[in-house]
Amino acid sequence: MTKHHILQVGAYPEWDQGPLDAAYTVHRWWEAADKDAFLAKVGPGVDAIATRGDLGASEAMIAACPKLKMISVFGVGYDAVHLASCRSRGIRVSNTPDVLTEDVADIAVAMLLALVRRTGPAEAWVRSGDWATKGMFPLTRKVSGTRAGILGLGRIGMAIGRRLQGFGMEIAYSARSPKPGAEGWAFVPDAVTLAKQSDHLFVALAATPETRHIVNATVLQALGPEGTVINISRAANVDETALLDALEGGRIAGAALDVFEGEPNLNPRFLTATNVLLQPHHGSGTIETRKAMGKLMRDNLTAHFAGQPLLTPVL
Ligand code: NAP
Repeated sequence: MTKHHILQVGAYPEWDQGPLDAAYTVHRWWEAADKDAFLAKVGPGVDAIATRGDLGASEAMIAACPKLKMISVFGVGYDAVHLASCRSRGIRVSNTPDVLTEDVADIAVAMLLALVRRTGPAEAWVRSGDWATKGMFPLTRKVSGTRAGILGLGRIGMAIGRRLQGFGMEIAYSARSPKPGAEGWAFVPDAVTLAKQSDHLFVALAATPETRHIVNATVLQALGPEGTVINISRAANVDETALLDALEGGRIAGAALDVFEGEPNLNPRFLTATNVLLQPHHGSGTIETRKAMGKLMRDNLTAHFAGQPLLTPVL
């Protein structure tokens, strides 16, 4: 039986690569030295694209694949996929929601605690010998019982809120409409008002043209000098220059970030800031969840080629 042709945009773990290689003829775009020449050569034969949320599929890549009918994204964010091209050509798109929700919410809460209780600097205090020579580590701030604002109450935002309830936090949220399941949490229609009434602002929005830089200088000003930002969504939701200016100017207390413009090459100002906690876009980075994401990404491809409905369709 002839195999369908897949354009693979980036690397996957071996437990996904093996089954993909067995089921399809896989063209490894990310390994090509001359990517344009590679696309010109293999693009006309490509039936589907297998990609990752951080890599997506560009307008040029989609245009180079005239037979393309399906894009399967490993990850929940599909902001890097050129959806307009997909819509106009009737290309189906799937992602891997739900299976990663709990891990991303776990890391968001871990980031809040680590930032505010300063667990990284405190550990460095122990390892460096400062504890023995200088005495007690400087006092930090309390997390339990403070006010959380969740900007974007989707799957992950909701899971963050459920966890924060366990810390006795007062929870408010912002989305385009009030959400069922958020009873007891205050709905606030805009980001500035949400920031004004929050100690800790979690950014859990989908990244769209409308949400770009929604956390801007005005929102940070409203959050104030005791406030923190925790972003586990997409870098584009935060104006990084405004954030760095606010951090360096002491206009907010700190930021914990899993996502960055141009990642993994982040703005070097982050590396010297002392009031930030930096993570390598690792919200879903557990073995269990990455296996579940890979299986869902592959199951969507299987469903497509079997002429069945996609398990988790975006388009
Ligand atoms: P989701 O269920 O689609 O939730 C997205 C939320 O964004 C919804 O509450 C939606 O509100 C809100 N939203 C969209 N446009 C808005 C706008 N213009 N104004 C206000 N709210 C708006 O997505 P999810 O699965 O929770 O994922 C959330 C984010 O996490 C995404 O950006 C995703 O890419 C990111 N993510 C990061 C990692 C990581 O490793 N760090 C892993 C997975 C996902 P409505 O319901 O009212 O439209």
